[in-house]
Amino acid sequence: MRSAREMGISTVAVFSEADRKALHVRYADEAVCIGPPPSGESYLRGDRIIDVARQLGVDAIHPGYGFLSENAEFAQQVQDAGLIFIGPSPESIRLMGSKLAAKAAVAKFNIPMVPGTPDAIADVAAAKQTAAEIGYPILIKASAGGGGKGMRVVDSEADFEAQMERAVSEAKSAFGDGSVFIEKYITSPKHIEIQVLGDQHGNLVHLFERECSIQRRHQKVVEEAPSGILTPEIRDAMGRSAVDVARSCGYYGAGTVEFIVDEHLNYYFLEMNTRLQVEHPVTELITGIDLVKEQIRVAENQPLSFRQEDLTFRGHAIELRVYAEDPANGFLPDVGTLQTYRRPQGPGIRVDDGFEEGMDVPIYYDPMIAKLVAYGADRQAAIERMVRAIDEYQISGVATTLAFGRLVMQHEAFLTNRFDTNFVNRYFQPEMLQEAHDDEALIAAMVAVSELQQEATHPTTSSHAPAVSRWKQNRK
Ligand code: ADP
Repeated sequence: MRSAREMGISTVAVFSEADRKALHVRYADEAVCIGPPPSGESYLRGDRIIDVARQLGVDAIHPGYGFLSENAEFAQQVQDAGLIFIGPSPESIRLMGSKLAAKAAVAKFNIPMVPGTPDAIADVAAAKQTAAEIGYPILIKASAGGGGKGMRVVDSEADFEAQMERAVSEAKSAFGDGSVFIEKYITSPKHIEIQVLGDQHGNLVHLFERECSIQRRHQKVVEEAPSGILTPEIRDAMGRSAVDVARSCGYYGAGTVEFIVDEHLNYYFLEMNTRLQVEHPVTELITGIDLVKEQIRVAENQPLSFRQEDLTFRGHAIELRVYAEDPANGFLPDVGTLQTYRRPQGPGIRVDDGFEEGMDVPIYYDPMIAKLVAYGADRQAAIERMVRAIDEYQISGVATTLAFGRLVMQHEAFLTNRFDTNFVNRYFQPEMLQEAHDDEALIAAMVAVSELQQEATHPTTSSHAPAVSRWKQNRK
């Protein structure tokens, strides 16, 4: 919305009854309620959204990044209504929405893929044979999958059939499509994705990578750019593969090609997300490119204003997703009223949020409160800023992922870039949050003592003491 405004475009927000007070409603020039809180009665009602657009003389619809943003039918309906869909073509969305169809489409390009079955499993005995050839552990995956659902790791042949049945029934109930396939399970995987951007004139570029391996329930919680482990050669090769994936489906707009990277830095194509991603700010900060503006320009049929050779990145950016979730309780949502809500500020800090003090985090949607993004000249500087911003962020009334994020920033494995998607399972125990809390109390006590001592000797410098003491403590 901000990007559109900067371009002189007025905006209309749509909202559900649960979001009456949401910030996007206040930022927009006009706002229209499209239904009750459950998303099936509001944010997923494409027909209502299109009606609002028609009534208010809107030219184009930006689908955001949840709900209908990867829905090919909606994109088609928008076009059929004579409006512009700010995103790729319905055909690209449909093709990449099926993991198997996507693999088939990219097969003509030389893109590394995880060993596995090229088609949906029709015959369990044959699938078992393939699994044995690939070698256990393997992963059974839903072709229509998303959000980490319908995925089952199988360690040995004895478990194959039971896990297969579970994966099929989960896929049927979550996506209405029980097609599953097999992939080799990469045991120490890093999730690294490439941002791509294309116009409607056949130009395609990539905007480097985002490292998204810190996940819970196969869902990202910390992302950064650039990755701390890629060499320039591998970055280049992954970028070229990503552009080929986009080319294979005639892509235009902003999109993300996801790869899994093993411990030897071999990379394999996972899937393509045909929309703007939650974690796009880290790419914006290191490249200086406003991705939403680019999406709008592409939708207006303008050619890209840069070529691949013109693109560079500078510095380092890290994003922490601040969720109303309780990490001490299996990261379960903990929604409620934001009794205290104060954002951090200062150099290198960007907070994309939708809430203010006193507002409720609704139970109906993904409980994300904010995206906290820190930028620095290098990774260490970005980490230090992130820790400082986490400490400044004041939220009470709901449990959040802030303290968890602080643990990640200070964990040896994170600091030395030796982590994979198993980070949370391997290193995180809920007691660590309590210990960190106790440490904070200890630091506070030490600061109080140092203040007292300083006051006794240098009464005028006492106000600087706390920050310095804490900084030293944090650097240990
Ligand atoms: P979804 O569409 O449900 O998000 P993805 O294919 O993007 O599914 O995979 C989500 C996550 O699951 C990845 O980020 C990675 O952590 C894990 N994953 C996917 N495929 C594999 C694999 N072959 N081996 C190991 N982990 C995998």
